[in-house]
Amino acid sequence: MSTPELQQDLHAIRISKVSKRYGDFPVLKEINAEVTRGEVVVICGPSGSGKSTLIRTINRLEEINSGSISFDGRDIHAPMKTRELNRMRSRIGFVFQSFNLFPHLSVVDNVAMSPIRVKGVAPDVAHKKALLLLDRVGLADKANAYPGQLSGGQQQRVAIARALAMEPPVMLFDEPTSALDPEMVGEVLAVMKSLAAEGMTMLCVTHEMGFARDVADRIWFLDAGQILEIATPEEFFKHPRHPRAQRFLADLR
Ligand code: ADP
Ligand code: MG
Repeated sequence: MSTPELQQDLHAIRISKVSKRYGDFPVLKEINAEVTRGEVVVICGPSGSGKSTLIRTINRLEEINSGSISFDGRDIHAPMKTRELNRMRSRIGFVFQSFNLFPHLSVVDNVAMSPIRVKGVAPDVAHKKALLLLDRVGLADKANAYPGQLSGGQQQRVAIARALAMEPPVMLFDEPTSALDPEMVGEVLAVMKSLAAEGMTMLCVTHEMGFARDVADRIWFLDAGQILEIATPEEFFKHPRHPRAQRFLADLR
């Protein structure tokens, strides 16, 4: 890992000619795109355009039919042992629409669990770190609560803390605020915004166009399995080039 090219590639994601079908249905069609280190990408597009499928291929929750996705200078979709795949996955944090917390574990145990189990971190060290992360997402006082005692917004912030506990260089978000009551959307977006400000590399599927405008470095507009436009928020919101993007934005208003 000493050559300049490999160093440059570290922590970046490069998606090359990625195609995927469900049966005969092409859900991703030769997708090409890159995420550079520290970049915040917002993926938007109509429902059913393939946003979730695309983001899930990045940590191989979905297999692909052709193409490649490199991360840390390695192809995530190359044949590899489960152990190796799990190690790679642990370097890519994922936050889902549904929070998926373990209901029988306290909040702090939810956050500390993966570092203990996957990384072999000593429990007391993992718990201390978990408390710091909970503080960071504004939930230090909920460490000993159980997920069922928290609001949706609080649970999603715990889910973000849990993903961060593995110290991933990249975070993926798939509609993290879509399942929340409107009054809780802001608190989750604020945590995401602070992560972005700290330089985290992030890919976010979201319909929150205010967040996209304020936080994204670039927007990928996906439609029917293709990226039709990659643009800065200024370009995208003021002068969308593709007619489909123009229609998508007009429909939001
Ligand atoms: P988005 O997240 O943009 O709404 P998805 O990636 O979830 O889109 O889905 C893209 C398309 O693939 C949709 O037409 C959806 O119905 C289809 N699809 C998603 N998952 C599956 C699956 N497991 N089997 C078959 N079709 C699927
Ligand atoms: Mg989706």
